[in-house]
Amino acid sequence: MKNYIFILVASILMASCTGTKSVTTPPSPPPQPDPVSVGIAKKPRNIILMIGDGMGVTQITAGLYSNNNKLNLERFKVIGFHKPYASNKLITDSAAGATAFACGVKTYNGAIGVDADTNAVKTILEYAEEKELSTGLVATSTIVHATPASFIAHQPQRKMYEAIAKDFLKTEIDLFIGGGKRYFDRREDGDNLIDILKLRGYEMGTYLGDELPEKIDTDKNYAYLTADKDPLTVAAGREYLPKATKLATDFLHTRGKGFFLMVEGSQIDWGGHANDSDYIITEMIDFDKAIGHVLDYAEKDGETLVIVTADHETGGYAINPGSEMGDIKGAFTSDYHTADLVPVFAYGPGAEAFGGIYENTAIFDKMMEAFGWKRD
Ligand SMILES: [Zn+2]
Repeated sequence: MKNYIFILVASILMASCTGTKSVTTPPSPPPQPDPVSVGIAKKPRNIILMIGDGMGVTQITAGLYSNNNKLNLERFKVIGFHKPYASNKLITDSAAGATAFACGVKTYNGAIGVDADTNAVKTILEYAEEKELSTGLVATSTIVHATPASFIAHQPQRKMYEAIAKDFLKTEIDLFIGGGKRYFDRREDGDNLIDILKLRGYEMGTYLGDELPEKIDTDKNYAYLTADKDPLTVAAGREYLPKATKLATDFLHTRGKGFFLMVEGSQIDWGGHANDSDYIITEMIDFDKAIGHVLDYAEKDGETLVIVTADHETGGYAINPGSEMGDIKGAFTSDYHTADLVPVFAYGPGAEAFGGIYENTAIFDKMMEAFGWKRD
């Protein structure tokens, strides 16, 4: 209204200055900015949470300077930091870190979807299932590894891979793509979870002979296991993450119900543990390609909140003197995780809530609030 009056007054003044006599038609009110483009007002229909495991500021910087000074991460306008500590340690692991995002609780290192007293806590993916949204998990580790596991399973210890795999059957997750086939079909209890998933109507593909398709053309739920255990590194020829991410967003979109999708670039962390700068950089750039597909989708869709963050930094990674653009001399203070604040990038409806500095558990709270959901 203020603008309207201002313009009206301004046009009267201008008209009198130029000597024009009559101002009979008031100008129409100025157009309002599109709420999506400024990221306010509307609730998201979809949330895509992307986790670069072990991706601190230096990992991002090294990827940037090794990729012609360009990353898709630069397309984000809302940036914040979270405090990644666990309930029992200042230095978190991926299980406590992912459980904080998935369940909104600080818990102990090793905990998968359970609180500090080992009680199961409902995950954002389970809330999404309950509200009849579609759901998906994509990772470049095994799909039962700490980060994806914390969104779908409830187990007291991260190494309980077979129990975690079984927890997949307790949900109706629409899509999952990652390694770890052996935890589904060569188990100590003798169960073949792949057969069970097929009986439950999943279309199932594996790295053995089935190509990851260009398009998932099915009404069924879809799962694809990319390796027997850990998937390859990018350097050894792994290519599926950007493609699987695009497949997943397109597939979940066509389901037409709104969706929650978590995508993990798992091996940035492994490069940090190995104190291997090239490993970090190649995995970082690969993850950034997946981010590019997600942003392309979100820009077109207009109803998708995208959040990119990490569970923690790994390696105490630094870019040392002697480095040049395109030639990073990496150095490390540790072969484990560090306690650094972790960057958060957000885009789309609800994104502005992710500016500032907050606890890692607030990522869960902010996602719930964006969807308009209350915790049970
Ligand atoms: Zn790690």
